[in-house]
Amino acid sequence: MEILETERARTSLLALTLIGMALALAHTFGPPGPWGAVGIALVFVTAGVPTALEALGALVRGRLDIDLLMVLAAVAAWLVGSALEGAVLLTLFALSETLETRAMGRARRAVEALMALRPDTALLQGPNGVSEVPVETLQAGDIVIVRPGARIPADAVVVAGEGEIDQSTITGESMPVARGPGNTVAEATVNLNAVLTLRVTRPVAEGTVARMVQLVTEAQAARAPSEAFSDWFGQRYTIAVLLGAVVAYAGFLWWGLPHQDAMYRAATLLVAASPCAVVISVPAAILSALSAAARGGVLFKGGAALERLASVTAFAFDKTGTLTTGRAEVTSIEAVDGDEDGFLALLAGIEAHSEHPIAGAIRREAEARGLVPPELPHGAAIPSEGIIAGEWWAGNARMLSRQGLVAPDGHEVHDQTTIWAGKGGQLLGQVRVADRPRESSAAGLEALRGGGVRRLVMMTGDRRAVAIRIGRELGFEPDDIAADLLPDDKVRLVADLAERGSVAFVGDGVNDAAALARADVGIAMGVAGSEVALQAADVALLSDDMARLAEAQRLARRTAGIIRQNLIFALGAMVLLVIGGLFFNMPLPLAVLGHEGGTVLVVLNGLRLLADPIRGRS
Ligand code: ADP
Ligand code: MG
Repeated sequence: MEILETERARTSLLALTLIGMALALAHTFGPPGPWGAVGIALVFVTAGVPTALEALGALVRGRLDIDLLMVLAAVAAWLVGSALEGAVLLTLFALSETLETRAMGRARRAVEALMALRPDTALLQGPNGVSEVPVETLQAGDIVIVRPGARIPADAVVVAGEGEIDQSTITGESMPVARGPGNTVAEATVNLNAVLTLRVTRPVAEGTVARMVQLVTEAQAARAPSEAFSDWFGQRYTIAVLLGAVVAYAGFLWWGLPHQDAMYRAATLLVAASPCAVVISVPAAILSALSAAARGGVLFKGGAALERLASVTAFAFDKTGTLTTGRAEVTSIEAVDGDEDGFLALLAGIEAHSEHPIAGAIRREAEARGLVPPELPHGAAIPSEGIIAGEWWAGNARMLSRQGLVAPDGHEVHDQTTIWAGKGGQLLGQVRVADRPRESSAAGLEALRGGGVRRLVMMTGDRRAVAIRIGRELGFEPDDIAADLLPDDKVRLVADLAERGSVAFVGDGVNDAAALARADVGIAMGVAGSEVALQAADVALLSDDMARLAEAQRLARRTAGIIRQNLIFALGAMVLLVIGGLFFNMPLPLAVLGHEGGTVLVVLNGLRLLADPIRGRS
């Protein structure tokens, strides 16, 4: 809103400024008349006064605005009888400011548009039929109906109906995905072809879109290191320029220049040395890159994460749910008492509230067999081990020994994940679960290698035999596969990698949170991943598509390059202009042109990133 208003106000003021400038020029080069002075006055009022007010407002808040320098220079020009030059300066300044606001507004709005993705109303299934309600009133547990072609009103689970969902609004992925009973669907995605009955899992205020908007707003507020630098630099430098202009003025006088000339040249220097381009060069690039990334389903929690990703040389990946699909399948069931279905139903009850991909596999299998899980106490997850629900438990060999049991011989060599379950000290049975690499994993890893990443490592809490089978399919060297890890082991291994360079960790689970936080860049699998992982990470990958990871790094690198270009160009242009002002009697309008032109160029250069979408496989 605010951006739009500033933009509109600026544009109308600019129109007046331009009219004033046209009058002033017509007077100078055309027939004489009183209109020249009117034109110049109009420029000073419409361009000078608002800028001066803004600069004074900043000054009151203890910040020295660069705009102040421009106003001072214009006033100085006017004082020495070069009012027309002062007007030219103000006009060009207003023009470039407007362009800048518009450009930056564009980068920001690309993200704010997310809000508009949500439908306004939902069809709520009540006790006496369906009614249309505002989406804000939806609660977890509500049942809603979504017609074909409509957007999903809130994060939900499919209760009935089967069809395809276009998730491109959230993930940036254009291939529709099939969704049926038990599957989750994200807010603001489009239901393509079926009537779906959904159970809402999260109210809109906590939903996917709210989360994205929050992430992006935080990202825009958090400053990147280089941004902080240009800010810091801008403040110090502005003071230096002000003092420098005064000193130069005194110097020119001492040199023997008349007062008028000395003042004019000091004003020229003031403009030439102003760091507008330096200060805008970083945010212009960062903001554009953040927006481009967000549209491709990659959310950075700030410019700092973007800058760090550019220099990452090693990637560590969690296996289950990250490199693998997170849609594991139960492949075998063995019950001690021979009642497979009874055992599976019980196990599904134990896992009822776990967000682990294995728990999901078990619940899906139970549902496919039409089993009704018993109501058990809410389970407590033990990361990388399993889950305990009252007297019941389920998990891997670690969990077995916690219960005072030993795993039978030979289970280590089996290359599928084995889950044992029991009650107290009594083993009730086991299931095997197989997970597959995501279709995009191999290509994604390959793209990272091709992009110059030196080391790729897989880290998993699963057993080595399983890790080796999956790892081999994805091209990991055995040395780069670490298995049987507890959450702390992942942290330690990430720290080891960090000694040899910048490291990113990619994970999805609660057990990955510590490693995500420890890594230089933590990357969470967004939509499917756990809330805890998302909190701990610096980057959220909303799409399932691993190829986007390499794309995100490419974008980060390109952003770093453009920032470098911008800073070098801006600093170089400034030096040239200052030399011109000091030694070559450069006319004021030329200094203005060089200064504003440079500023606009760096903004446009940053904006190129906006047109650099993150592409996936599809
Ligand atoms: P990864 O590090 O590959 O993501 P995890 O650390 O999440 O794997 O899990 C490691 C192992 O811990 C699993 O292979 C499984 O044996 C066990 N486990 C973790 N959570 C559960 C659960 N909810 N139910 C059963 N077993 C679990
Ligand atoms: Mg995992």
